[in-house]
Amino acid sequence: MTNRHELFYNYLAQTSDFPLALDIDRAEGIYLHGTNGEKYVDMISGIGVSNVGHRHPHVLKAIHQQLDKYMHLMVYGEYIETPQVKLAEALVGTLRPHPLPVPCEEGELFNLPPLQGRVGEGLDNVYFTNSGAEAVEGAMKLAKRFTGRSEIISCFNAYHGSTQGALSLAGAEFFKRNFRPLLPDVRHIRFGVLEDLALITTRTAAIIIEVISGEAGVRVPDVAYHQALRARCTETGTLLVYDEIQTGFGRTGTFWAFEQFGVVPDILLCAKGMGGGMPIGAFISSKSIMAVFKNNPILGHITTFGGHPVSCASSLATLEVIHSEGLAESAVAKGQLIRELLQHPSIKEIRGKGLMLAVEFESFEVLKPIIDRAILRAKQGTGVITDWFLFCDNSMRIAPPLVITEAQIREACNIILEAID
Ligand code: PLP
Repeated sequence: MTNRHELFYNYLAQTSDFPLALDIDRAEGIYLHGTNGEKYVDMISGIGVSNVGHRHPHVLKAIHQQLDKYMHLMVYGEYIETPQVKLAEALVGTLRPHPLPVPCEEGELFNLPPLQGRVGEGLDNVYFTNSGAEAVEGAMKLAKRFTGRSEIISCFNAYHGSTQGALSLAGAEFFKRNFRPLLPDVRHIRFGVLEDLALITTRTAAIIIEVISGEAGVRVPDVAYHQALRARCTETGTLLVYDEIQTGFGRTGTFWAFEQFGVVPDILLCAKGMGGGMPIGAFISSKSIMAVFKNNPILGHITTFGGHPVSCASSLATLEVIHSEGLAESAVAKGQLIRELLQHPSIKEIRGKGLMLAVEFESFEVLKPIIDRAILRAKQGTGVITDWFLFCDNSMRIAPPLVITEAQIREACNIILEAID
């Protein structure tokens, strides 16, 4: 073992007995470079973060420029910090309804369904956080405070973060059992099942749900499901909270996945790919909903580092890259190419949208050696990093940086196919 390995195992808190323990020297674009000269294609964007690739030059430039001005100045919400206000404006800009046709998975064009949402209110107010979990926590507090209700609903097999509030939403007892008591008044419904929407009632403050269920193994519901969900929330006065922490920032073929379902949430959550490699998250709602944080009590949510200026500068540059390089739009054709290339008798199904894909095998026992062999291919030059899902261990996660090229997709898929064989 190298000295670095010893330090890793001795001094870093371990959360499993089998960390990947890849020793990475530097990263660029879709590649991670190991300390021994080996090279890996990052097909999971570590995880769902590096949408614009590792160290995108435009992002690096924005970070350097901000470093030369200031880093932390004050806790969230007190000073006017240019990177925060510019990013908030740009995020709201992505959320104005637009009539553009969107390419669907088959490469045809279809018009977005008409948007349904709360009349007269838009997603025009942003609260910046440090992480996805903090965005979830903020949204839960906002919904309870705004509605005066306590019940929160989430889905079985969902993952929304590991802090105690977010963990309460997790849809599997296995991760929660030994941390109880967690939040009371949390109920779970089955994702994509219309009948279960009846469990949303006038007692429910919010339903927190992904547009496409990620850790359940990338499950894409019907458009009709999200429209019925929106209608039920409006009927019961429940806030609809979309967790777009995995699906946002171009991952599924539109900037936000909800655009493809024709509904608008009351609160939108983002993080992960938002930062271009820097830590940041946000919950976004309307000015009138967000206003409840100003009183009773004052300072309804407090964060020291949320919306860190360097992270905000990085995030704004990320958003600009996604727009200027057309990364959301190109994710559709790239996802389609992966589906075409990954044809093999061992592959049962490929699910997903854009570059958020799950490749299903018979079992974890079949899949795990394939993942290991693809990584080990680095010994012969280039390996490929994939993994599986928290609540779906027979499916391989494929979510590469959106900047991946056609040639790089072919290279990665060839290595995966060889690993299967
Ligand atoms: N929500 C979803 C859908 C996620 O996938 C994750 C993280 O994997 C989170 C929330 C939590 O985000 P973070 O790890 O930044 O706290």
